[in-house]
Amino acid sequence: MTPDKEPRFATRAIRAGQQPDPTTGAIMTPIYQTSTYAQEGIGVHKGYEYARASNPTRTALEANVAALEGARHGAAFASGIAAIEATVKLLSAGDHVICSANVYGGTDRLFRQILARLGIEFSFVDTREQGLIEAAVRDTTRLIFVETPTNPLMHITDIAVAADIAHGAGAWLVVDNTFATPYFQRPLELGADAVIHSSTKYLNGHSDVVGGLTLTSKGEINEGLRFMQKAAGAIPGPMDCWLVLRGTKTLHVRMEAHDRNGRRIAEWVERDPRVNDVFYVGLPSHPQHELAKKQMTGFGGMISLELGDRARAEAFCRATRVFTLAESLGGVESLVSHPAAMTHAAVPKEQRERMGITEGLVRLSVGIEDVEDLIEDLDQALPGGG
Ligand code: PLP
Repeated sequence: MTPDKEPRFATRAIRAGQQPDPTTGAIMTPIYQTSTYAQEGIGVHKGYEYARASNPTRTALEANVAALEGARHGAAFASGIAAIEATVKLLSAGDHVICSANVYGGTDRLFRQILARLGIEFSFVDTREQGLIEAAVRDTTRLIFVETPTNPLMHITDIAVAADIAHGAGAWLVVDNTFATPYFQRPLELGADAVIHSSTKYLNGHSDVVGGLTLTSKGEINEGLRFMQKAAGAIPGPMDCWLVLRGTKTLHVRMEAHDRNGRRIAEWVERDPRVNDVFYVGLPSHPQHELAKKQMTGFGGMISLELGDRARAEAFCRATRVFTLAESLGGVESLVSHPAAMTHAAVPKEQRERMGITEGLVRLSVGIEDVEDLIEDLDQALPGGG
């Protein structure tokens, strides 16, 4: 690495934020399992005072993921939802947020059932449509919150367009980049002001941590988030930070494998008459495939299938053997879930149906197992298979 040259993605994934430990030379950032730090005199310390405010393992993770997103700063939280909450709580009562109509069910629940009660106002609009975002802008709009691609319908929002609208209104654009990861999509380069991750998913990649991060290059947002970590306290422990840091080292390798398997499976299910509809942003038949190609460099392993009705969806979820029925996504192992009953159960039924989250919809998180085993599993589990 020449010191004056920005390292490429894989080098950043493996190196950024981490130097050999100064006391021992340990190559891996230690798990600083401590709640506090000795001070040489009152107010004289090495930059760490109390572990709610900061911890060196957390600092390394924050710097690492910031480097992947091309951000100056990162703030880690105890979950993806905690990162979203801390970010939106930079606003005050009376401020207005425009949010994608189809977001993760837990995000919808946080906004409608908690933050709205505290006086932040929300409009849920189909952010695929530029005109609908523009029409929702108010004098008090401070933030546009977009998930792209969305969970589970794979809707895409044009990030550059949403950023222009936000900035024209004096608001921030915040993008939940959990599905795409910085390997395939970097919203800050397209004009977003902050990026959010559930690191529970692809960043960690091994289904053994719950965590979240917000990344930004804006000093004002960073200062607000640092204050949130210290003052509201939804911070991750050092062990969890260390696990995510281990995960990000292989993000590029895993995402290539998820993408390879995802494309093969999407093409296979698209040809199968037992599947009514396939939602995968990498398929040319996806209505926003051209936009996906414009703002993403790969499509990953998230695929939703419309099987027609609840009975067929249930039978399918019971029958898979390699795909495990479970909430969550983004791990090396393949999972299947039923959004209406699982990830989006908190969203009122009529709202779910309006969005297209039907009782027949199942969502696949395609892992990195042998793709032939995955296809054989789907083949035997689809109605009439086996
Ligand atoms: N954002 C997206 C797109 C998600 O899918 C999820 C969880 O499924 C979250 C945020 C929330 O993250 P966490 O479960 O880590 O709180």
